[in-house]
Amino acid sequence: MTTIFAKIVRGELPATILYQDDLVTAFRDINPIAPTHILIVSNKVIPTINDLTDDDERVTGRMMTVAKKLAEAEGIAANGYRLIINCNRHGGQEVFHLHMHLVGGRPLGPMVLR
Ligand code: AMP
Repeated sequence: MTTIFAKIVRGELPATILYQDDLVTAFRDINPIAPTHILIVSNKVIPTINDLTDDDERVTGRMMTVAKKLAEAEGIAANGYRLIINCNRHGGQEVFHLHMHLVGGRPLGPMVLR
């Protein structure tokens, strides 16, 4: 199975890559909603959070620690930021390849519109 993000992970599509290791890749979102908007994706294609297994805990843990380091590097750690993972239709997921949004650089307002 391949996805647009898998192609970025393999270097087959251009992206502004900020970090890559054996488990995750981080790059700037092509359509940012805030001054900092970074996607941290699993290198392996995991379509949604629903597809996670216990064996994926190293990947999901790495996504969190990389988010923390990138927030520091972007200078947004102290003011704060939001980490978002969308799942399926109600979650508004568009790309079916596990990814975490790191969003910040301005006040983000309420978590979810009422
Ligand atoms: P989601 O709705 O959680 O699936 O988010 C998908 C995100 O991927 C959106 O914020 C898009 O702007 C972003 N996106 C789609 N294609 C690309 C791409 N080629 N490079 C960077 N970001 C992308």
